[in-house]
Amino acid sequence: MKPSPFEYHRPSTVEEAVDLLADLSDAELMAGNQSLSIIMSNRLATPDHIIDINGLDELQYIDSDGDAVEIGALSRHCDLETSEILREAFPILPEAAEQIAGPVVRNRGTIGGSIGEADPAGNYPCVAVALDGEVEIASSDGRRTIGAEEYFIAYMLTDLEEDELITDIRFSRDAFPISRTGMAFLGQKRAAQTWPTLSVASSIRVDDPTADAPTVEDVRIGLANAADVPIRIEAIEDELEGEPFTEAALDTVGEMAYENVEPQDEMHADERYKRELAREYTKRALNTANSRANT
Ligand SMILES: Cc1cc2nc3c(=O)[nH]c(=O)nc-3n(C[C@H](O)[C@H](O)[C@H](O)COP(=O)(O)OP(=O)(O)OC[C@H]3O[C@@H](n4cnc5c(N)ncnc54)[C@H](O)[C@@H]3O)c2cc1C
Repeated sequence: MKPSPFEYHRPSTVEEAVDLLADLSDAELMAGNQSLSIIMSNRLATPDHIIDINGLDELQYIDSDGDAVEIGALSRHCDLETSEILREAFPILPEAAEQIAGPVVRNRGTIGGSIGEADPAGNYPCVAVALDGEVEIASSDGRRTIGAEEYFIAYMLTDLEEDELITDIRFSRDAFPISRTGMAFLGQKRAAQTWPTLSVASSIRVDDPTADAPTVEDVRIGLANAADVPIRIEAIEDELEGEPFTEAALDTVGEMAYENVEPQDEMHADERYKRELAREYTKRALNTANSRANT
């Protein structure tokens, strides 16, 4: 099938784009077009207007000012994959980016499109929820910021209004000192280049990596495709924080992951199988993050 007819607009600034969003009814933003084209070709969306934001060069950057890392919404997955800033400050983001589909999707798809689409299986949404990312949003009325956990409301439903545009995703560096923090992103896929059945984003900060049994100070755990929205399991974080990292604790939190997810049956993975994945991949991701924190 082909998309239904639409009028095409190509603004060159954020200001022009949000004015178009305010003026036009039934308009859809187009970024990397890796998801939108599929939805429109199947006529699951039939917008009257497409606002192509690929000319908004001001949204294509990855910056760090010491306090936070900011990623412009139009940054492509391949930009995140190869960013030296991210490899140093938030290595989980290049790791999440390199696991998205194949090179064609990664060369075009954007972080703004991924957060905008809000697929619960998406790689960045669960990283953003786990690491307290913030979504920065513009409209013709001004700008606002919302925490990722509040942004994702229900299945593919977000706090974003129809006249709003994501401008960037921000990660505060406060909780993640490079020398004492390890991060890991781990997804399980049926086949290369498909969406993952379940993914886990994890981060562990220890007090002293040179100690024999460092104390875990801060833990983050986010899961994708384990519920209708990307989720963070704070009970696991509470269980591990303030203690040394042990095999026994890992077994306990694996069980907590099994219990705390709320997955849906899918054609290739029923609810029980996804719970099993949550248990095993949570353990593996935390173990990897912990070993990285201690090297
Ligand atoms: C074969 C295949 C496999 C994939 N596998 C994975 C995977 O494993 N993990 C994963 O995370 N993703 C995966 N994806 C999705 C991929 O990451 C997409 O690129 C991404 O989800 C959408 O980004 P996009 O820039 O292409 O957005 P588009 O397709 O252009 O837009 C998607 C939606 O987001 C909205 N949007 C776009 N930009 C903005 C913005 N700045 N502000 C507000 N709304 C916006 C659009 O209006 C639209 O509704 C896969 C896609 C394909 C085709």
